[in-house]
Amino acid sequence: MATTYPYGYGTTRYSMVQYEKLTTVKYLHPEMWRRFRRLMELAAAAGVDLGVGTGWRIQPDPPPAGFAPPGNSHHESMPSPPEPRTATAVAIDTVPAKSWDWMESNLYKVGLRSFRKPSGWGYGGTNEPWHVQPVEIPAARSKRKVPYVLPVFPLPGDPPPDLGDFLMALTAEQQQQLYDRVMGSLPGPYSTGERPPTAGPRRFVLDDQDGGFLAALLERLAAKLEA
Ligand SMILES: [Zn+2]
Repeated sequence: MATTYPYGYGTTRYSMVQYEKLTTVKYLHPEMWRRFRRLMELAAAAGVDLGVGTGWRIQPDPPPAGFAPPGNSHHESMPSPPEPRTATAVAIDTVPAKSWDWMESNLYKVGLRSFRKPSGWGYGGTNEPWHVQPVEIPAARSKRKVPYVLPVFPLPGDPPPDLGDFLMALTAEQQQQLYDRVMGSLPGPYSTGERPPTAGPRRFVLDDQDGGFLAALLERLAAKLEA
């Protein structure tokens, strides 16, 4: 029988085939969905239920307390309005609450970050441990109208891409954000990444499900950004 995943805020469960027919999933940026889908699969393999509460949505107008106004949420398509239905949304509110501890310590493997506080990289917004979005984009949409170009993030189990090609696809700002947030979300300072006691390049020892890609990426970025 196909694996099923929790969906929404009740007791509904769907297979992945059913999941990918949902409107709230269909209008996610394909790379956002690709990353979160793998996280759902990793969670299921670890015996943890993880799914989508809401992905893409039309922001209510006027927005309830704590909601971004229309045109300013990563849950909406870009640009919006007037074209709110394109596969360009880059945020998911995840379910259920009992998955969030597991999720928080595994987000870095799939290129995502949450709005959980306190944060290891100094995130200062509202505490929303359920909200996830790509690690390399700013926390707030800031009325952005241009859809994000997201690089294909190497996921556990996939053959790692060429590191140089991957870095080339990121702007300098994206490189800095990715480095800060991945560093800030590693499970415990230097429990999986280590800095040698004397001067020299930082070395990382991470879960090698990704073929060592993330460790190599962090080493490259550390050498560049901490020089
Ligand atoms: Zn959200």
